[in-house]
Amino acid sequence: MNKMQQLSVLIPAPLPCYDYLSETVLPVGTFVEVPFGRKEVLAVVWDKKPDKTIPESKIKKIKTVLEMPSLPKQSIQFVNWVAGYTVSPLGSVLKMVLGPDILKKSKKPIVFEHPNPDYTTLSFLPEQKAAVETLTKQIGLGFSVFLLDGITGSGKTEVYFEAVARTLKKQKAVLILLPEITLTTAFLTRFEKRFGVKPACWHSEMTPKQRRDIWQGILSGSIQVVVGARSALFLPFQNLGLIVVDEEHDASYKQEEGVLYNARDMAIVRAHIAQCPIILASATPSLETYCNALSGKYHHLHLTKRFAEATLPDIEIVDMRQKEKGTVKFISPKLKCALADTLEKKEQALLFINRRGYAPLILCRECGARLKCPHCSAWLVEHRRAGYMCCHHCGYTKPIPKKCPVCQSENLISCGPGVERIYEEAVLAFPTAHVKMVTSDTLNNRTAFTTLLDELENGLIDILVGTQLLAKGHHFPNLTLVGVIDADQGLAGGDLRASERTFQLLHQVMGRAGRANKKGHALLQSYQPENMIIQALKNNNRMAFFETEIETRQLLKMPPFGRLAAVIFSGKNELLVAKTAQQMAAVAPRDTSITVLGPTPAPIAQLRGKYRYRLLIQTEKNVNIQNIMAHWLTLFKVPSSITVRLDIDPYSFF
Ligand code: ADP
Ligand code: ZN
Ligand code: ZN
Repeated sequence: MNKMQQLSVLIPAPLPCYDYLSETVLPVGTFVEVPFGRKEVLAVVWDKKPDKTIPESKIKKIKTVLEMPSLPKQSIQFVNWVAGYTVSPLGSVLKMVLGPDILKKSKKPIVFEHPNPDYTTLSFLPEQKAAVETLTKQIGLGFSVFLLDGITGSGKTEVYFEAVARTLKKQKAVLILLPEITLTTAFLTRFEKRFGVKPACWHSEMTPKQRRDIWQGILSGSIQVVVGARSALFLPFQNLGLIVVDEEHDASYKQEEGVLYNARDMAIVRAHIAQCPIILASATPSLETYCNALSGKYHHLHLTKRFAEATLPDIEIVDMRQKEKGTVKFISPKLKCALADTLEKKEQALLFINRRGYAPLILCRECGARLKCPHCSAWLVEHRRAGYMCCHHCGYTKPIPKKCPVCQSENLISCGPGVERIYEEAVLAFPTAHVKMVTSDTLNNRTAFTTLLDELENGLIDILVGTQLLAKGHHFPNLTLVGVIDADQGLAGGDLRASERTFQLLHQVMGRAGRANKKGHALLQSYQPENMIIQALKNNNRMAFFETEIETRQLLKMPPFGRLAAVIFSGKNELLVAKTAQQMAAVAPRDTSITVLGPTPAPIAQLRGKYRYRLLIQTEKNVNIQNIMAHWLTLFKVPSSITVRLDIDPYSFF
């Protein structure tokens, strides 16, 4: 009998590699089934050296070798890299590659037709043409990063479609990443118009069969183009020739559960492994990306003109500090006038407020009690339409009480505006207008979105009241007025990116006004009109925003001028949570290039019944924060009832 081979094998579960024995030599990437505990589980032969010090008698044998193409080397390299960067177990990252039942064969697999790069052609404006040429020249020439930076409607999508076409002609595969909410039929239809067929689409609403068929189609190389949400990054491409990350600034690229990774950043690594170009597209690039473009690390492609000669809206700030007489209204008289004008001209308006529900807080006027979630440090948000109040952190829901739970008086009042309240005000002010409200509660699937676009297009809506309607690539040709109810809303709070997000969000919202050939107007209601962000928005002065923001972050050594990691401790026993956090802080590395902030109770100190503490670690840019954190986490004991989460490059600070 042959001598047994000792191999390293990785199981898609939060574990490291384990050694197994095989009768034959198996190449790295081979899919196998191995005994694990009492079960047999799927695993992949990994590129790690087996541990020869373990006696052979202690090692189990591989049960089955699966007959199918191996996991590509690039996928293995990528898993290794992501696990190292995020300081996560290798198997947790492999789990994002494999998913349940991914190797099961479908009886009738979906067939994806090949996109035709020559299906249509456009003639480009000079600026667009220059960008197209730069991009297409680079296809097939190895790794490089492009920032495709252009105002909404300037043709970014059309431009990167040309790079897609060139990649297809070179017989290579393309991955287009989009934030989940913009992955709409409209985008797929647009793709179809350009390339003759719909692309394979990877998102959270797929059936298990669709998931398997696409995954296997990519592994076998029969699928050329995937348009997908962030998890598509882990698909087993063999022959990737281009990655596009559209709306690269979007915060939803950061995965906030399981393995904490930023798909935009990891996409750059993936492109590097594939040695192919990557295009980051945005109308409002993130500060990180912008700085990389400034320093010349990324190529900067600029599109400054809107196609079809449309202009940016006129922007006006409404100073909300000037109080009017009478009852409080959230729609100012000025905005009301502008709405009336718009309706008169038979044009459409959007009222934007980034807050779901009717009011963010219910308060007792008699005793001052505020209705709070019993499981979180958060107020209960009034959802008057649905008749309940709800915690936006844990989902705790209760009917709205008639009486104050503390003093029993019937004097409960709603505090502050939510989208339902603005809707109510708009209906009262314009009783004959068609007012429609959209929130993530009502606009929660692709069909609802398509219906909304149809209604807008057919003039069935006069005033749209909404929380987030920022899907790109949608043109509302008759929408000429945007009113931002509470422009300051995002500016408060200790979030590193509060200013940046507010700028990006409001800039995009205002960009909804005045496409096509109609002049648009935007009104920003603000209580701090002299704030730098509000001013930069008003003057459409992105440079002013970037300059101030870069200066601040440089001064504070915040990303991208320094590195950050967060550690979040949580558990049911508050004292134990605090103690564990303090123990970690007590063994902090003594190094002048590292600053430890905290531990402190998290801003949301209680979430889903668990107490939370945070530590923030800030280092110089050149410090290997992963090594430090990985070592540090071994220096103290974590009781089994406490969860410790490490977040490298955190985006959420609650
Ligand atoms: P962005 O992605 O920057 O928002 P799009 O690529 O969606 O811009 O372009 C906006 C609109 O203008 C789309 O309907 C697009 O088809 C159209 N468009 C852009 N450039 C051209 C062009 N050169 N020829 C014809 N239509 C164009
Ligand atoms: Zn009371
Ligand atoms: Zn709650």
